[in-house]
Amino acid sequence: MSEPHGVATIDTGYQRPAFCAAYLVVQDGCAAFVDSGTGRSVERLLAALEARGLRREAVDWVILTHVHLDHAGGAGELMRALPNATLVVHPRGAPHMIDPARLAASARQVYGDEEFERSYGELVPVPAERVVAAPDGHVVELAGRRLRCVDTPGHARHHLAVWDARSRGWFSGDVFGISYRELDTPRGAFVIPTSSPVQFDPDAMKDSVCRMLAEAPARVYLTHYGEVTDCQRLGTDLIAQIDAMAALARTLARDPDRHGRLVEALTRLYVERAQRHGVKDAASRVPTLLAMDIELNAQGLAVWLDRQP
Ligand SMILES: [Zn+2]
Repeated sequence: MSEPHGVATIDTGYQRPAFCAAYLVVQDGCAAFVDSGTGRSVERLLAALEARGLRREAVDWVILTHVHLDHAGGAGELMRALPNATLVVHPRGAPHMIDPARLAASARQVYGDEEFERSYGELVPVPAERVVAAPDGHVVELAGRRLRCVDTPGHARHHLAVWDARSRGWFSGDVFGISYRELDTPRGAFVIPTSSPVQFDPDAMKDSVCRMLAEAPARVYLTHYGEVTDCQRLGTDLIAQIDAMAALARTLARDPDRHGRLVEALTRLYVERAQRHGVKDAASRVPTLLAMDIELNAQGLAVWLDRQP
């Protein structure tokens, strides 16, 4: 398997193909996962190890970018399968991995029991002694390879991004937006921010993007979905859109059909930008492909509006 920089993209199988990734980083026979996918993803992650001739004992670390369930729902079950692994997570996320009861209850409330069972499975607690709460700047060593955890709020306050000096890449979770390969053009990747509920903070997100760009990254490994390059342009695109999204949310703050109008306005924003980026049939394909993201972004913008004084 040719995997530059020892980084493998693993499709977690959540929702649809090429929607949600976890990463496997391999260095001199030692391995780390970045994000776990859901409880339904664990078999795929273990199969990825086996396909590379790695034993479960070779995994030293499972690093979570944040504790949203598409990133962390499977962490407990994965940890149960990896006898030598330590879980690394933002200090605000750590308590929810040790005792996931609140996380599970709120997800059941949002999705309903049936969808929760279908998409996520059981949330397995991780023993506290196997969890490291990583403050800003915390370095994880993988056979001497330094993976630096950086506090990157904006999408969630329990979010960290992981800087890998060897690949000059960021594992960005959701703070550097989402970008599906279906919307690539000769100009490169098309990216949009994710403001999903309940902790979106536009100023913090812009600061986090700037902090990531300051490393002059060669690549960013997105959860949704895969590796992107041309990072400065993508960062600039993200910042422009974060401002645009916050501005249109403010305009619609008192609209009686706020949610419906937000969905319309976001759809228009992304379609226009995709057209300028050269995406073919953007007017029909973008609303379909981004339907779930637009819905969640509208919900998250509403929660943010309601938090404003
Ligand atoms: Zn998220």
